[in-house]
Amino acid sequence: MRACVTGAAGFIGSTLSCELVRQGHTVTGVDSFTDYYDPSVKRENVADLLKSHAFELVEADLIDAPLPEVFADVDVVFHLAGQPGVRGSWANGFAPYVDLNVLATQRVLEAATVCGTGRVVYASSSSVYGNAVAYPCHEDDLPRPYSPYGVTKLAGEHLARLYASNLGLSTVSLRYFTVFGPRQRPEMAMSQLIEAGLTGRPFPMFAAPGTLRDFTFVDDVVHATIAAGLTPDLQPGTVLNVAGGAPATMVELIDLVGDLLDEPVLVQDQPVCAGDVLRTGGDSTRARHLLGWKPAVSLRQGLARQIEWRLLQHSAPTPIRIHSAHVIDLTEVEVSA
Ligand code: NAD
Repeated sequence: MRACVTGAAGFIGSTLSCELVRQGHTVTGVDSFTDYYDPSVKRENVADLLKSHAFELVEADLIDAPLPEVFADVDVVFHLAGQPGVRGSWANGFAPYVDLNVLATQRVLEAATVCGTGRVVYASSSSVYGNAVAYPCHEDDLPRPYSPYGVTKLAGEHLARLYASNLGLSTVSLRYFTVFGPRQRPEMAMSQLIEAGLTGRPFPMFAAPGTLRDFTFVDDVVHATIAAGLTPDLQPGTVLNVAGGAPATMVELIDLVGDLLDEPVLVQDQPVCAGDVLRTGGDSTRARHLLGWKPAVSLRQGLARQIEWRLLQHSAPTPIRIHSAHVIDLTEVEVSA
């Protein structure tokens, strides 16, 4: 397959690109290296990929890039570029969310239609559900986002659906539930918790202690995403949950990181953020039926891998012994995957 991955330098996009190349596919990555977080982290994410002949990077903004040229001969577009995060999407922060999540998505769908691209896989989010009436959430539940970010991700989904129903473009929207693992964005809770545990600085907790999240390991997300790109005969406009399926509270997460690091993590309570839902939880039965996908990596296993990756990327400020129920072979930790 000839694939295009938008957001190829980001957390999930770079992991997806590595796996596609590893499987023998050819990948054109598009990324504008936004400053939502330190762009040098993203440069590091693609450093190994750039050594591969099967990967080409187009450094461009989807808002004005010549997308029909980029998508020419591409079989599947994996559209992961976007402005993530709930907190920044309020007030003046909203405009870039509209640009990068709505306008950019419309340009991707339009160009894919013009080019006759075989499929567009769109990275949607559990945030489209908001505070749901019942859990776990099913794809046909009425989505009611609780943050401006969620509104923009849902708008992208609606665009994908209507390009499918009106213009016959084969689109699949995947609702990712809190993704974690190596390369996780530095502002996300697990990254921050691990840093807090390693440095002894307190973890700034912006959520209520009982806040529940359905965490999904990045390799599982990547496998679902590739399956969504390759599975034939999916109904155009299909929407699928991609959820780890074993939600944990913030308190459980803090304890787990402390246990894995063999160091208690100090917590500093912060005001709860507007737009943060109390709970996420997704039913992935449809993804199992249509894609043959199910999550394979537990929260504990995945967190241990994220910690191992963090320690391999940067030298730890203090000697830390990882305490895990699972034996981790360092030679098997995928630093660049
Ligand atoms: P990320 O910020 O690490 O990656 C996004 C990448 O897109 C960045 O490298 C950024 O530079 C690039 N980008 C943004 N706008 C662009 C534009 N207009 N043109 C070109 N490049 C652009 O984020 P991530 O965590 O890897 O998330 C990837 C996608 O998955 C996002 O669309 C996000 O909304 C969605 N998602 C992520 C999670 C999660 O837990 N990480 C959960 C649900 C949904």
